[in-house]
Amino acid sequence: MGKDNDIESAGDTPAGLLAELHGYFQQHPVTGPAGHSYIAAGSRPTMVHAPAPGNTNWGVIEHIGRTVGEVDQFTRKANPAATEPPAHVAAVYEWCVENTQNAPEDVQQRRDALMYRQQLEHAIAMGDKDVVRPHRCPGCNTFGLVWDRRTLSVRCTNRRCLGEDGLSTTWTLARLAHEHVIAQKSLRVRAT
Ligand SMILES: [Zn+2]
Repeated sequence: MGKDNDIESAGDTPAGLLAELHGYFQQHPVTGPAGHSYIAAGSRPTMVHAPAPGNTNWGVIEHIGRTVGEVDQFTRKANPAATEPPAHVAAVYEWCVENTQNAPEDVQQRRDALMYRQQLEHAIAMGDKDVVRPHRCPGCNTFGLVWDRRTLSVRCTNRRCLGEDGLSTTWTLARLAHEHVIAQKSLRVRAT
């Protein structure tokens, strides 16, 4: 059994969530762009539905392709001698870590932030808007962040936390992920 704070389920990792998304996509097939590069030919779902503009599944396909592509690009840039990327999309994070484990610390920190941001993005893509709530606002350091679907950003609900324009402050998921990775790092430093 895990420790008290070890409450993460398997889905609460970027790879776990991406696997869930990918599974969802395979169970809800739509006519996709032929030969989508991130869906291996063998596992490409049977296309049964006509594509519809705004179809959620299009969003899922695009989301998977975009996120995997970003990890792929990051890894190859950090390590031009990286091994071939894995066939299954959810294995891409492990592949990324393996191929960047000897990279400079700042590169590894950016990698961790990228992976954590994608974890947040996967959760939001699956409708879990509450995933931003456990984070403190980078501006006022209090809780009360909400996901704003309209602006695709994180908004602080603290009425005293306002930007120069007098409107509530907003943050990108990338900023939250950066703060998260920095905080985790300082926790680790303090623990040793
Ligand atoms: Zn705030």
